[in-house]
Amino acid sequence: MKFHKNFYNLEIPYKDGMLLYNILNQNFVFLNREYTEFYNNEGKWYNSANESKLKEFMDAEFIVPDSIDERNAYLKNFYFSRWFSKKLLFTIVPTTACNFRCPYCFEQGIKYVTMTDGVIKKTKNLIEERIKIFKPQSVSVSYYGGEPLLELNKILEFGRFFKRLSMLYGFTYSADIVTNGYLLSENVVLELYNEAGVTSAQVTLDGPEDIHDSRRFLQGKGRTFRKIVTNIKNALLLDINFVIRVRVNVDRTNVNHLKELLMELSQLPQRKKKLEIYFSPVTGEKDKIEQEENSILFTEEEFGRVYVDKIIPLLKKYDFHYERYPDISYVFCGGITPYHLIIDSDGSIKKCFDLVGRDEESVGHVESYREDDVKVLRWELFEPLSEECKNCKFLPVCGGGCPYKKMQTGKNVCEPWRYVLKDLLIKIYELKEENGEKG
Ligand code: SF4
Ligand code: SF4
Repeated sequence: MKFHKNFYNLEIPYKDGMLLYNILNQNFVFLNREYTEFYNNEGKWYNSANESKLKEFMDAEFIVPDSIDERNAYLKNFYFSRWFSKKLLFTIVPTTACNFRCPYCFEQGIKYVTMTDGVIKKTKNLIEERIKIFKPQSVSVSYYGGEPLLELNKILEFGRFFKRLSMLYGFTYSADIVTNGYLLSENVVLELYNEAGVTSAQVTLDGPEDIHDSRRFLQGKGRTFRKIVTNIKNALLLDINFVIRVRVNVDRTNVNHLKELLMELSQLPQRKKKLEIYFSPVTGEKDKIEQEENSILFTEEEFGRVYVDKIIPLLKKYDFHYERYPDISYVFCGGITPYHLIIDSDGSIKKCFDLVGRDEESVGHVESYREDDVKVLRWELFEPLSEECKNCKFLPVCGGGCPYKKMQTGKNVCEPWRYVLKDLLIKIYELKEENGEKG
């Protein structure tokens, strides 16, 4: 039998050997000089004295038989997951109104619209119709805004509706909410959990108190940080399985203050069990950023550097989970599948979160949505993979980038991993070594 190195291996020369990582299965090892020489010398693979070494590499799928085509297998799963899913996703926007006046949102000129009873009724009809057609095993719902908690009663109403349908049609139901956290009091968490089956909330913090409050404030510049952190703390103390995901938006203005934020969050109760933190770039396209003098945004590549050089060491310092390898996925954006609809507060249907609250780019309306509408098909038949993507090692952790950006620019918008995964692996390995752990 003949063998080859797995296409998704990342090889990083390190000390007198090599760090070897497989992007698909996340196996990660340090090879000493002897193992590195074996791995790099195909002639040695077929020597019977090395049988056990070859078996070790094969068990970890760093070396695979020539009868396996790991690239086309990934592509098959990519397309299969896009077209054949047993999971339906709905994002529901009960209102685009918001109690905050954050400049980066407000400047986009989003209109404040709240779902009317008529739109709610038609939304429910559309949802039930889709459940009958798709016969899903699971339905996942996300409440989004605006600030969805301004319309808590509407969320509870939808929650009761989904629970009833799950009994009727026999699917499992799960729900989460994306909120600014200001109204997420203990009682609200309990209502969301008990009545609407919501089990996690994503809350945004843009830095420590002063920085956050200068960017995410109420009308009249009222402060928000302290109340949000108190709400998070109280939610974590509740004796229910409710997870808080703190999202930190990072740009040049807050990147040097993340330490204070993590220090504060490290004091929260139950944080190992029920608190997750992740960092998102407030990014823009490289070309545009380069054209704008003094842009506060990072390019994807720059954010990748910040993540490796600043964020990972801080996560370790404050005892958060830092050994995070990029998740592999087959469907990176529900917009290009038939399985995800974003139902905006006016009843229009969107395929991308960035289009919520905007008039343009609707693909239909709850009262007249059709799968065969040209606007729907423009998304669902969009080819997200260029030839370069199909031959790219990073495809399993990138998915070809954001389809909407690709539709607009015709270019690949590569995820930060492409630029920094090797450095991230070295950093994680070094931090683990400091802890006396082996890779
Ligand atoms: S921003 Fe891109 S990846 Fe995100 S929902 Fe919109 S199209 Fe999908
Ligand atoms: S967008 Fe870039 S990183 Fe992603 S798969 Fe395509 S070429 Fe690779």
